[in-house]
Amino acid sequence: MEEKKIYIVGAGLSGLIAALELEKGGLSPILLEATDRVGGRMKTDEIDGFRLDHGFQVLNTAYPEAKKYLDFKALGLKNFDPGAVIFDGNDSYVITDPLRSPLKIVGMAFSRVGTFLDKVKMFALTQELKKKSNEEIFSGPSVPTHQFLKEYGFSDQIISNFFKPFFRGIFLEKHLNTSSRMFEFVFKMFSLGHAAIPEKGMGEIPEMIKRQLSSSRIYFNSPVKTVEGNIITLETGEELKADRVIIAVQPDRVMKQLQGQFPPPRKVANLYFSTQKSFLARPMIGLYPGDHLVNNIVFMDDVSKAYSTNGRSLLSVTVLESDLPEKELIKAVQAELEVISGVKAEYFKHVKSYYIPYALPQVDDLKYSIPYTEAKVFDQVYLAGDYLLNGSINAAMTSGRIAAEAVIHSFMSTH
Ligand SMILES: Cc1cc2nc3c(=O)[nH]c(=O)nc-3n(C[C@H](O)[C@H](O)[C@H](O)COP(=O)(O)OP(=O)(O)OC[C@H]3O[C@@H](n4cnc5c(N)ncnc54)[C@H](O)[C@@H]3O)c2cc1C
Repeated sequence: MEEKKIYIVGAGLSGLIAALELEKGGLSPILLEATDRVGGRMKTDEIDGFRLDHGFQVLNTAYPEAKKYLDFKALGLKNFDPGAVIFDGNDSYVITDPLRSPLKIVGMAFSRVGTFLDKVKMFALTQELKKKSNEEIFSGPSVPTHQFLKEYGFSDQIISNFFKPFFRGIFLEKHLNTSSRMFEFVFKMFSLGHAAIPEKGMGEIPEMIKRQLSSSRIYFNSPVKTVEGNIITLETGEELKADRVIIAVQPDRVMKQLQGQFPPPRKVANLYFSTQKSFLARPMIGLYPGDHLVNNIVFMDDVSKAYSTNGRSLLSVTVLESDLPEKELIKAVQAELEVISGVKAEYFKHVKSYYIPYALPQVDDLKYSIPYTEAKVFDQVYLAGDYLLNGSINAAMTSGRIAAEAVIHSFMSTH
């Protein structure tokens, strides 16, 4: 194909996959990235011997797109033990593998989280979902997840002790108003795969895709101000003329006429503390049911040793929907950690807090995929990004691939 000027706005996961797919089609795109690194919402900082992901997140090993683009072995993926440690005041208990083999959980252990009927229903749901394709799930009925769980017949006990804290931490909202399509998809992924992190942090995922690029160029520290038709204006005032543009970020950022068209995104706070040693001492997520600041915790070095190289343990705490100023939030979280662990509040040494105002898009009509014809918004302008489908790594990758396919197709049909 003759040299075409293709610009991609944003070098997050969707922009990187778009670039990779364009290269496969013989094109050499230029990525315009506002920050100094690739990865967008998936980044890892190295601070004082710790690896700090920007917000607690995991890769599900069953994601179809992730299997396609990532070399899990080279990432050194570390799996979480399935299940969760549930904190109940100053007591705690473990529920092993409820989403994969609920019937294997001993009755006594399960009775703290739900009823016998819940166990059977969990089993029925896993079987049902394994038979449904992802496309079927996303074109099926959509009701708020809390309603779905009730209608499926789950008890209030299992909803508040397990489903709520577990899925709050995934949907990043407290009331499980997120569509049941997302619930079914995530449930299915967890029943087929493992939650995992790359040995050296989530930021390794976009880095791995970046390394696969050969003819693309990435311009860092190049925020785009506007995209009008095929004219891109950088914040510096420089104008670029494109044959095609892929906007791989929510487009209201660069198309002023779309401002106000997107529902407010989900935000989250992620606080890191160090302790002398992990009080969980297992690669498992800890859930704190009820109305607390702490929703879920993980000792990252229990999952991957490389998250701490300084001899201390690294605790990641996820806090939802809090507006407390940082100092107060740290104190309040330390106090809650003392309750659940019995370890004195002051032994949790604060490392860093991440406030992520745009963590997940709020998507009203969740989709698994779209036909490539829908990725085009204007002549020469195409869209990518998780907000088009659903807030997940899988969706970001899918959307990038589809936008690239649409661009490649547009050249084929004009020749
Ligand atoms: C805390 C948190 C937890 C999560 N947990 C999970 C999880 O457990 N599992 C899961 O599957 N997914 C999870 N996600 C979602 C997942 O990270 C995202 O779906 C995915 O990273 C989105 O990629 P993207 O390319 O669509 O967008 P982004 O990553 O947002 O990429 C957009 C890029 O565009 C750049 N940019 C923005 N404005 C401009 C501009 N004007 N000019 C140039 N560049 C610009 C940004 O700097 C960024 O690099 C989580 C996300 C967060 C934040």
